[in-house]
Amino acid sequence: MTVLDATRHTTALADLGCRQFDVVVIGGGITGAGVAREAVARGMSVALIEAEDFASGTSSRSSKLIHGGLRYLAMGDVALVRETALERKVVRRMAPHLAQRRWMVLPVRSRAGLLKFRTAIATYEKLGAVEGDDLHRNWNTADLEREEPVLDRERFPFAVAYREYLTDDARLVIANLRAAVAGGAQCVNHLKVARLLLSPSARVRGVEAVCSLSGEAVKVSGSVVVNAAGPWVEALRRLEDADAPSVLALSKGVHLCFARDRLPVRNLLLLTTTDGRTIFAIPRGEVTYVGTTDTAYSGAATVWPEILAADIDYLLEPLARYCPTAPVGVSDIVAAWAGLRPLIAQPGKAVVDLSRKDEVTVGRSGLVTVAGGKLTGFRLMARRIVDIVDEVLGRDASGGVTDAPLPGGDFAGGCDELAARAAARCELDDHTARRLVGLYGSEIDEVLALGRDLIVDGADLVDGEVVWAVTREGACRIEDVLYRRTRTALYQPSRRAELIGPIGDRMAEMLGWSPRRLEDEKLRTVRLMADELPRDLLRS
Ligand code: FAD
Repeated sequence: MTVLDATRHTTALADLGCRQFDVVVIGGGITGAGVAREAVARGMSVALIEAEDFASGTSSRSSKLIHGGLRYLAMGDVALVRETALERKVVRRMAPHLAQRRWMVLPVRSRAGLLKFRTAIATYEKLGAVEGDDLHRNWNTADLEREEPVLDRERFPFAVAYREYLTDDARLVIANLRAAVAGGAQCVNHLKVARLLLSPSARVRGVEAVCSLSGEAVKVSGSVVVNAAGPWVEALRRLEDADAPSVLALSKGVHLCFARDRLPVRNLLLLTTTDGRTIFAIPRGEVTYVGTTDTAYSGAATVWPEILAADIDYLLEPLARYCPTAPVGVSDIVAAWAGLRPLIAQPGKAVVDLSRKDEVTVGRSGLVTVAGGKLTGFRLMARRIVDIVDEVLGRDASGGVTDAPLPGGDFAGGCDELAARAAARCELDDHTARRLVGLYGSEIDEVLALGRDLIVDGADLVDGEVVWAVTREGACRIEDVLYRRTRTALYQPSRRAELIGPIGDRMAEMLGWSPRRLEDEKLRTVRLMADELPRDLLRS
């Protein structure tokens, strides 16, 4: 299979079971996807197995920034900040539509504060080799009135605006997976690893996995198995060693979406919380999303961590302080998501103070486990992991790492120019052209060629996107299309409930669903949307 085609899911399962792979990767988040892509680039045969949907874990729940993290500089993590700050340009080269340049605006109360933040930002820029037009600028009250009128200028008369890059986490994962698949990898979602297969000498030689859609079990053989299961890495390590010590500290991060006309933010905003942390307010589609919290999470890892009233209060407070003319409350929340950061535990440290660096270990049966890390550093993290795979396979580690364009990323001139050309060529309105370029980059024409009628009149989704999601990006459920391929559920939530039926009908045709399966799928998606926030909270 050279494309991620959900209509051939059963064939892909059968193929997994009858081949011997160099590497089996467990987990289809950014870590696993990056490893699959890098391993293929080094000539390895690769199988990647994802329990739920690709990117359904932490890699669709981030703040969606390709950034070095100014905050980590204050924590003294200079090496990590340098690596990720430099990596921003590389990701932008590989996929300009998935690393769009934006101003991050840091509002400041006094001249002294301005000086302090400018010094920090100048260091950040030096570490990231930022130059020319991308260097930070100061905004005074007049600039703020023009550029970011939602901010309270009396309280915050100054601001520093510096460059950051806005990505789409789930689409970055899909782009990496598609690059891996184009190079021969077999990547299968909705297939959960239940057991490790050991050789007579107790070396891990593959996995047994069960498909959650069909119930079918498959044994997949590989010379090396990489555990890239994010918040679930410990559960996988315990399949190798029931007594494996705990290495992770999970931290929950919540984002809330408000209609953009209720919270009309223009740039990316960096707001300080009462406990001295920072959160972002980011305009996207028809919403402004606000996050994130960073609190210790002691339950079992889950794809949908619960959002609590305390999380919402925490995020609403700074909004009231910075944007008093746009007051928003619980009833203004139109969508939300929460995710779990798989951080490396350090005794005595609270989760907010933990480093975001990654760590790779090899277990007693040879299972290669990766913990920690950030979306931004996925490429270099993949290099470190595949270097170890090379070693285990007895090959010379190449020392290099691929920076070839990702699918959809091979265009010059920027997203605005690409969108303008597409709008003229395909007779699209500017809004639709920009939205599609943001999702599909230079592949916009191919998506539109599959169908350009709106799925529902007046809603932001064309038929070709559903077909593309199923036949090129492995979407097996309605939820996969709405939440992770098109991101409509999060960025265009006003009509999302109406889209469930028509998307389901289209997928049923393509995937041969029975009427019962179709009904189950629709119901499941309705429930998912209803459960994003606690119902009792919404009623109060
Ligand atoms: P995941 O994305 O969770 O992938 C692991 C996968 O393994 C999951 O899909 C899971 O279903 C699968 N899996 C689990 N068990 C099994 C099994 N038994 N069999 C098969 N598959 C299995 N980073 C940035 O660079 N920029 C940001 O702006 C940013 N913001 C963040 C905001 C929040 C709130 C959070 C939580 C994190 C943020 N991060 C950010 C960090 C970044 O999102 C994570 O580091 C990254 O997504 C982790 O990816 P992963 O692939 O390791 O884990």
